[in-house]
Amino acid sequence: MRVLFCSTEIYPYVKTGGLGDVTAALPPALIKAGVDLRLLLPGFEKILTNLKNVETLVEFPVYFGAEGVRLLKGTLPGNLTTYILDAPAFWDRTGAYVDQDGKDWPDNHYRFAAFCRAATDLAEYDRDWQPDIIHGSDWQCGLIPPYIKLKSGPHPKTVMTIHNIAYQGLFPPTILPSIGIPGEMYTIAGAEFYDKVGYLKAGLAYADHITTVSPTYAREIQDTDQGCGLQDFLKTKSDRITGIINGIDTDVWNPKTDPDVPQKYDAKHLKDRAKNKKSLLEKFNLSPETKGPLFAVISRLGYQKGFDLLLSAMPHLLELGGNLILLGSGDKPLEDAFTHLSRTYPDRVSVRIGYDETLAHHMQAGADVIVMPSRSEPCGLVQLYAMRYGALPFVRKTGGLADTVIDIQNAGATGFAFEGDDAFSLEAHLPLIFEAYNTPGFWAELQKNAMTRDYGWDDPARQYVRLYERVLKEA
Ligand code: ADP
Repeated sequence: MRVLFCSTEIYPYVKTGGLGDVTAALPPALIKAGVDLRLLLPGFEKILTNLKNVETLVEFPVYFGAEGVRLLKGTLPGNLTTYILDAPAFWDRTGAYVDQDGKDWPDNHYRFAAFCRAATDLAEYDRDWQPDIIHGSDWQCGLIPPYIKLKSGPHPKTVMTIHNIAYQGLFPPTILPSIGIPGEMYTIAGAEFYDKVGYLKAGLAYADHITTVSPTYAREIQDTDQGCGLQDFLKTKSDRITGIINGIDTDVWNPKTDPDVPQKYDAKHLKDRAKNKKSLLEKFNLSPETKGPLFAVISRLGYQKGFDLLLSAMPHLLELGGNLILLGSGDKPLEDAFTHLSRTYPDRVSVRIGYDETLAHHMQAGADVIVMPSRSEPCGLVQLYAMRYGALPFVRKTGGLADTVIDIQNAGATGFAFEGDDAFSLEAHLPLIFEAYNTPGFWAELQKNAMTRDYGWDDPARQYVRLYERVLKEA
């Protein structure tokens, strides 16, 4: 089975969220599971510099308005055969999708239409390898299914994965002629979304199958406002929507070997973990002797992530004896509010505004609790890393968080999961955390439960293979 896996991010070269991690880990797992897989990526500089054995398949003098565009084939580390749409005019920029001020690049509709077209025309330029399935992710790949539908003759099947339905790639209908989508496709059952062209919607409308990254999120996006306006549309396709939980890269995220973890440890040597907590407290300018559970946040700070709920609950959390460290960036009012809190309680709360991969690893290895009160969470990776590192996740019961964290009130608990969508519900769960923390031996039991579960990609990869097989069988 030949699969062309298309993505606009790949860790460690380009990553704005979970998609980058998934693109780095799922394809190798699929290859291991027997799929003949190749990648298609945009020619961002860091990807290009890591591409080896490069050959040019075709040069386009002008491609979607950009000059000097080439389709390249090469290999990325891990021996991944990779096609690249090399288009400096599109990719040679500081941000993948947005500029320094967080504004969408004005030519995003061209950039990602070009990328999708390269995916669907690839078979014309590499005659030796024709995909059976083209698998794309998110709105950036949304035009792949309609472009395939527009082709005559035999063509590959398409699978679209939603990593986050909140990002839909919406553009005015005036762009239609320039991206080669005919008016007949601009309908409510097609690419139209409230008088805009929706790239994600177009992908969902014409894909042979839709996946998302957890079974609960798959249900939520059809039944609730978590569908961001697409819920009724998705409900009409419910027999072709599947939720598959993401795995994690268990080589990168392994507390026994992680170069960013000062004191290595595993589930059998949990006591060693305490040294990481000490050095972490020091890194955050808190006393290494600080008592009480150390809560940590590693996240984008946006409305979706729900950290305003945590902020409201902070007085209670501090009163119970907890401490907080935060690494993240995003909404300015939230950044400011947490920074203000750290100034008010300088020996209990410490905040780093920014993105720091190394520090994130150290935090997972030293914090007691990782907080994720998300309003919606397609899958979430941070709670999976947390459990693997023996930091117990404290999550809101939604999406992938509901599917992966077993709450303290159940057998085999691996963390804490509260229901409800307000700060009161979050606060009401706090005593359970402190009680567990203060019960000798019990906390370690929970950590062991969490650390010994299987978080790898082998099982998710097998589920994708079964899905591909099903899609290929369907008429
Ligand atoms: P999302 O993709 O919605 O941002 P996920 O939990 O799926 O959330 O993935 C977030 C990824 O980004 C994780 O790998 C996490 O460790 C990383 N991350 C988020 N914020 C930061 C940060 N400030 N510094 C370092 N890593 C971060």
